[in-house]
Amino acid sequence: MAGAARAEAATRPAVLILLGPPGAGKGTQARMLEERFGLVQLSTGDLLRAAVAAGTEAGRQAKAVMEAGGLVGDDIVLAILKDRMAQPDTARGVILDGFPRTAGQAEALDGLLAATGQRVNAVVSMEVVDHAMIARVAGRFTCASCGEGYHDDFKRPATAGVCDRCGGTAFKRRADDTAETAGARLAAYHAQTAPLIAYYEGRGVLERVDGMASIADIARSLATIVERVTA
Ligand code: AMP
Repeated sequence: MAGAARAEAATRPAVLILLGPPGAGKGTQARMLEERFGLVQLSTGDLLRAAVAAGTEAGRQAKAVMEAGGLVGDDIVLAILKDRMAQPDTARGVILDGFPRTAGQAEALDGLLAATGQRVNAVVSMEVVDHAMIARVAGRFTCASCGEGYHDDFKRPATAGVCDRCGGTAFKRRADDTAETAGARLAAYHAQTAPLIAYYEGRGVLERVDGMASIADIARSLATIVERVTA
């Protein structure tokens, strides 16, 4: 199916959550789902990095916490998320990537969605082996133009220094993608975010996907889930 036809495959707006530690592949898969189904990827990490870059008050408050690999306070994250969810493009359906990360955020999301007659349709727990995540995170970089993701060991551009997707020649690495900070981010995931797996399991919306499978296999599993919840 061509990209445009695929984008039409989603008939009902869906709210899909990708849960998993740093390096689980949430961003990679969210981008693929966005392209294939026309859903909007909404990454609170991206929104926070934009706030830091823009030097907003929220960005100034979040910066040090992000650099240390901790979680930014719920109030800041929720304010940023609410703003983004108010944009009209989110009516096509959203893939939440990196949100919610705490019980408070999950409850606030329920309230936010209920106000517009929506609900969480599916939560995918991307099940991975912890020790592999540090290596995944520490070697990754993205194209500065189109955001395509690469990795020093696992996925280098076909031509060195040139993005496979858009031909761009500038690449960037996140300041927090170091082995040291990745350890702190993993710890934050287990302490504050992993309990959400049980929360959503109790609500009957949890799906488990093997996050150690190939990118293509994971994409297939996720597509099946999206097709089911948007049918
Ligand atoms: P990410 O791009 O999802 O890996 O997020 C990068 C950093 O942004 C995290 O390590 C946190 O410091 C912060 N962050 C992103 N999303 C959230 C969230 N939902 N709640 C709290 N902090 C967040």
